[in-house]
Amino acid sequence: MLKLFAAAVAALLVAGPAVAQDKGAAAPAAKVKVLATFSILADLVRNVGGDRVEVAMLVGPNADSHVYSPAPADARKVADAGLVVANGLGFEGWIDRLVKSSGSKAPVVVASNGVKPRTAGGHSHGHKHGHSHDHGETDPHAWQSVPNVKIYVGNIRDALIATDPDGKAAYEANATGYLARLDALDKEVRDTVARMPKEARRVITNHDAFGYFAAGYGLQFIASHGVSTDAQPSARDVARIIGQMRKEKVRAVFLENVSDGRLLKQIADETGAKIGGTLYSDALTGPDGPAPTYIDLIRHNIRTLSAALTG
Ligand code: ZN
Repeated sequence: MLKLFAAAVAALLVAGPAVAQDKGAAAPAAKVKVLATFSILADLVRNVGGDRVEVAMLVGPNADSHVYSPAPADARKVADAGLVVANGLGFEGWIDRLVKSSGSKAPVVVASNGVKPRTAGGHSHGHKHGHSHDHGETDPHAWQSVPNVKIYVGNIRDALIATDPDGKAAYEANATGYLARLDALDKEVRDTVARMPKEARRVITNHDAFGYFAAGYGLQFIASHGVSTDAQPSARDVARIIGQMRKEKVRAVFLENVSDGRLLKQIADETGAKIGGTLYSDALTGPDGPAPTYIDLIRHNIRTLSAALTG
C-alpha cells in the first residue's frame, strides 16, 4: 500500500494525474483524485468531473464542518489528492494547516472565488460569537444560493482542466449540462417563493446558514445560533428570538441535519410555532436520505419551506 502510494505520488509528480500512461495511448488515463472538504462540494466535483475523477471528501454526509477536526487518516487523504477543492470564506478554518502538514503539493482551489461575500450578523440583533475558530464575520454558506454555486462550478471546471488538460472537452460539456440543471433549479426556487404569501416568508432556524438563500430568494431567516454551530446562545438571545417571533408572527421553526435541535423545539413549544421539518444546510444526506445531491438538497429545502409556510 505504502509502496503503491509512493509510486503514485512519483508518477503524479512526473506525469500529472495521468498515472497509467504506460499501458499505451488507448488505455484510459488514471482518474484524477480530487479531495473535497465537505459533501456538497464533493457532489459538485462529481457532476463536473464525471468518470474522469475519483472524489473523496473530508467531512461526510450529515456531518458538521464547523466542529470538524482532522484525523491522521485525513492527512493521508490530502497527500493522496491531485486536487483539493475547498469552500473558502473561512468555512474550513483547518484546511491550510492540514494541507501543509500532509506534505501535499496538490493545488487547493477555492470554489467560492468570485462570489460576493455576505457579512453575517447584519441584522439589528447582532450575534455574540463565542466560538474559537476564525471566520470573522464573513458568512461562509454561499452554496445556499444557486447562482453562487454556478460560480463554484465554473471554478471547479477550470481547476479540473488545469489539472487534467486532456479532459477539457469533457469537463466543459459536463459543466454546461450541470449549469443548465442549476438554472432550472434556481427558477423552481423563485417560482415556489413567489407562490408563498409575503407575510409567511419568515422562519427560524438553528444556525445562521441561510443568509445567502434568504437574500437571494426574498425570505427572512432568524437563527438561534450564529454562522457557526459551536457557540451556545445565551438566555438573552433566546428571549430575543421568542420576542421577535411573537411580534412578527413567525409560523414555523426548522431543524437542521448538522445541529442539535433541542433549543428550537423549546422555542416552538413556548411560542406555539410549528416544527416545519428539517432543512439541509451544511451537508448532504447519505444516498437513502432526502438530500443525497446538491440539487436534491435545495429542492428538499424549498419544498419543506413551502409546505410549512403556505396555507
Ligand atoms: Zn454552517
